[in-house]
Amino acid sequence: MSTGKNIPELFGNNVFNDAAMRDHLPKRVYEELRESIDAGKELDPKIADSVAHGMKEWAIERGATHYTHWFQPLTGVTAEKHDSFISAPGENGKVLMEFSGKELVMGEPDASSFPSGGLRATFEARGYTAWDCTSPAFLREDALGVTLCIPTAFCSYRGEALDKKTPLLRSMQALDKQALRILRLFGNTTSRRVVPSVGAEQEYFIVDREKYLQRDDLIYTGRTLFGAMPPKGQELDDHYFGTIRERIGSFMHDLDHELWKLGVPAKTEHNEAAPGQHELAPIYEQCNVAADHNQITMEVMKRIAEEHGLVCLLHEKPFAGVNGSGKHDNWSLTSDDGINMLNPGDTPHENIQFLLVLGCIMKAVDRHADLLRMSAANVGNDHRLGANEAPPAIISIFVGEQLEDVIDQLCATGTATHSKHGDKLRTGVATLPDFDKDATDRNRTSPFAFTGNKFEFRMVGSSDSIASPNIVLNTIVAEAFREAADELEQAENFDAAVHDMIKGLLREHRRIIFNGDGYSEAWAAEARRRGLPCISSMVEAIPAMGTEKAVKLFESFGVYTRAELVSRMEIDFEAYAKAINIEARTMIEMASRRYIPAVVSYVGQVAASLAAVKAACPEAGTEAQRELLLELSRLLTEAQRALNALKRANEEAAAVKTARQRAENYRENVVPAMAALRAPIDALETMVDVKIWPIICYGDLLFEV
Ligand code: ADP
Ligand code: MG
Repeated sequence: MSTGKNIPELFGNNVFNDAAMRDHLPKRVYEELRESIDAGKELDPKIADSVAHGMKEWAIERGATHYTHWFQPLTGVTAEKHDSFISAPGENGKVLMEFSGKELVMGEPDASSFPSGGLRATFEARGYTAWDCTSPAFLREDALGVTLCIPTAFCSYRGEALDKKTPLLRSMQALDKQALRILRLFGNTTSRRVVPSVGAEQEYFIVDREKYLQRDDLIYTGRTLFGAMPPKGQELDDHYFGTIRERIGSFMHDLDHELWKLGVPAKTEHNEAAPGQHELAPIYEQCNVAADHNQITMEVMKRIAEEHGLVCLLHEKPFAGVNGSGKHDNWSLTSDDGINMLNPGDTPHENIQFLLVLGCIMKAVDRHADLLRMSAANVGNDHRLGANEAPPAIISIFVGEQLEDVIDQLCATGTATHSKHGDKLRTGVATLPDFDKDATDRNRTSPFAFTGNKFEFRMVGSSDSIASPNIVLNTIVAEAFREAADELEQAENFDAAVHDMIKGLLREHRRIIFNGDGYSEAWAAEARRRGLPCISSMVEAIPAMGTEKAVKLFESFGVYTRAELVSRMEIDFEAYAKAINIEARTMIEMASRRYIPAVVSYVGQVAASLAAVKAACPEAGTEAQRELLLELSRLLTEAQRALNALKRANEEAAAVKTARQRAENYRENVVPAMAALRAPIDALETMVDVKIWPIICYGDLLFEV
């Protein structure tokens, strides 16, 4: 076991990081590569061979035999194709370990096995992967041995993005350019680059592997499709920040160490609200690196859990009636010289810049609430967003009392003259009180909360990539910045113009601010009154990608083409239909072959007992058996009918031709039919002899790890 002393040595051991580059590359090559990384540029092909050579030497020293381009196709999980370093055997029959610049920079997986949403039909089937040199290569150690993993983007031969990284990098470029314009307006001449900083807090459940393997629903769908609540749920809140149990502690220890070796700055580990639920938060990093590191985190969580005889569930809602899991995407904008554009700052000057940035973000979120909602939509998240759980399906911004008060004053009078918390506001236009970070931090129901010097987008699903939400955030904010810069760069009197603009932005988008309880019925009604969209399911959220508003936005920044957007909608509809189809089929199988037979057999026992008692002793009471028999039979009939109905609904949905209509059909007909089957089975679970009940229960899964 390592000690605190070893950690600095351990950290990044399996990463081709700056130190490794320095050691393994010629000085000039190192400097050029560093330059590309710092500027977020592509690698110069002329130095690719040299970089590849150094990287290979480094990897081989650490036992690597293979390399892979590691990429994120639109399946939601990462993909890779392993190649060994060996060359063709020479005349002497020996091989060399080789790795060329070309192999580093570009790979050619068979694109046809990945979803392309129709892009393949119109264009070429082939695809290629290209190294994102701003995200460092790393070594993975597992049963396959040691593999050099090269984070890459995945495109078609015509350059259409087939993955999540490509548009993410494009959106970062767009935002960089526009954010610099804003900084320049305020006299900044030194910053060279602005990148989004992202920290993704990751929630997950841990269950025992042996128990997991007893449930087909967990195996096939990642969530339980049946199951009654145990007598004790999370109502006591005793799990949250509770002491970490032995087995979990040992899992977390290994997880941290493995992540540290991979350069993932895992920082905080704690229990979450539900029993069996936990969270890991890393230190924030540059957006694309944070996205890669979140993928790595999810992979490593699953692997380490298995090594401990556990299973890590990343599904958004593994257990009905118990809190689900999400991901908080903490987002801010940082310049290469350390300015956080979301920091309110100490001087009136900085405050004005901050208020402009805030106004632009309000505009972006208000105007494109539908896109943000879409970016957090996945099949599992339908059980959270808009269903009695954090956060609600309505996008709003939480800014805290203090800032809201300033916004209100600015909206009303154009100046903010005082602070609600008593601190004296400096006189002058748009000066702000010093922020008390903690005062803004504690609204857990808001989907988009300002937390002192960053925004926290809390809608993202626990299993999802954080790429999509960041693509949307980066692009919509870039658009608002562009509009502001276009206007302000032309202004004759900058101070007056920026003042008017801030006032205008805050006034116009005031409706997106909401500091109250996001779960309440009253908020749903209020949001409707304000005209904010409430989009309660993935199927309803997807079309936001295809609106003219979205096409214009994304095309104008070169983040997505119309064809790419259309293809992504197609893939999402398809993914939804497939996932529900698998869930429905799993339910049908479990109900037909496990639950219903078990209940039939129990009903037989009860009936036999009733008959036997009556025969043996007619005057003995048989009320219990009778009552039980009636209720069991009623529920059994209900279950059988619901099962038949689900089979029919699923067949009908599967036969629908277009992806969109198929998804809609699954949503409208199959999802309710699944709920109708679950209800009687869950009721039966609370009545049938535990010795006969065929499936392990929630209580065993959640409390006995
Ligand atoms: P909590 O949300 O529980 O209050 P913190 O605010 O400390 O916790 O941090 C949560 C996450 O936000 C962490 O991953 C952290 O690295 C990240 N974070 C902190 N500051 C920033 C920032 N300026 N930009 C982006 N992410 C940040
Ligand atoms: Mg948080």
